[in-house]
Amino acid sequence: MSFTSLELSAPILKAIEMCGYTQPTEIQSQAIPRALAGRDLIATAQTGTGKTAAFVLPALQRIGIPPSRRGKGPRVLVLTPTRELANQVSDAVRTYGRFMRIRSGAILGGVPYYEQQRLLSQPVDLVVATPGRLIDHLERGRVDFSRLELLVLDEADRMLDMGFSEAVQTITAATPADRQTLLFTATWDRAMETLAKRLLKEPERIAIAGKQRTLETIEQRLHTADDMQHKSKMLHRLIADTAMTKAIIFSSTKRHADQLARELAEQGHAAEALHGDMTQGARNRAITKMRRGNVRLLVATDVAARGLDVSGITHVINYDLPKNAEDYVHRIGRTGRAGASGIAISFVSGREIDSLQRIERYIGKSLPRHVLPGLEPQSGRRRQSSYRGAGTGMQGRREAWRR
Ligand code: AMP
Repeated sequence: MSFTSLELSAPILKAIEMCGYTQPTEIQSQAIPRALAGRDLIATAQTGTGKTAAFVLPALQRIGIPPSRRGKGPRVLVLTPTRELANQVSDAVRTYGRFMRIRSGAILGGVPYYEQQRLLSQPVDLVVATPGRLIDHLERGRVDFSRLELLVLDEADRMLDMGFSEAVQTITAATPADRQTLLFTATWDRAMETLAKRLLKEPERIAIAGKQRTLETIEQRLHTADDMQHKSKMLHRLIADTAMTKAIIFSSTKRHADQLARELAEQGHAAEALHGDMTQGARNRAITKMRRGNVRLLVATDVAARGLDVSGITHVINYDLPKNAEDYVHRIGRTGRAGASGIAISFVSGREIDSLQRIERYIGKSLPRHVLPGLEPQSGRRRQSSYRGAGTGMQGRREAWRR
């Protein structure tokens, strides 16, 4: 399928051509025609599949047609869980809409209110927002949704995870009932189903095959770790590899992310932290530096790195494993994007076995075990003896970990 057969307008096609895209990705070829036909959609697709363009292109097509209703509020609203993701969607709107006249803006936390108030007081075509800040404006009576035509929920599962369920429902309740709604999510569970039932009308469903699909280009490795010191040694060995041109190191806590980034920087590495306690400006600066190649190692927490789209990330290192399996998939999806290959390395200590098992069940395979010469784990042997006799269940788990 080609982009021209999708019946997008000439300015949009021209912008796509300038991006160098030769054909739509699977999610795009499935979602765009349905969205253009005005259908509500539930699309299960992860980052890296081209999902952003799958909703931004139909949104732009809509904006190219004069509005049917008068008013000043946005015609399209995209809700995203994090500021980073919102910024990426805004970038995509600018990129794909570069040959159109569009008024768009972002309503995000961590930035002053006054500019956002100005945006909301003018006729605006498209607004990208995080739920928390948009609710603030809504409660102050500053948002007019009377001419909203299209609502997009991006990474809806993450919005629920982050506790935005009520906010999303309050926001949608303030929009016209005859709007079109597109829901994008990486995962599907009962909470999503409840949300979808409330918000969508006779939705069409698209699932981009299996969880592994986007992971095909990523080589996943597991290193068994004895303790934090062992993890630190392995990290230093790995980052000495010059093939690692850009890496994201994931840490479970903001404090550890800060500490590790500081430590690496002191040792002369181009390293920075990225976490939720940093101001929006500081987060943007860190991401820009990485994009430009001025930062090689970004030590990040899950929330801050959600949706992060920096091209050329060669490695993702999980210093700690995330507690839930979806976060693992999101983390490693920062590398191997848009067809490039990538390596995802996870350090797993004895106390992380439960998380590991959840992840392996979720991705449907066990992570290949690797060792670094001279830094072999010691604890496997010790643990084996200490767990002897603990029952086959526990024994089996420990065995699985050492494999
Ligand atoms: P996303 O899943 O939206 O985060 O997109 C992943 C990456 O794929 C982004 O860097 C896009 O620029 C890129 N991309 C989107 N659509 C296409 C396409 N049709 N062909 C090639 N790359 C694309």
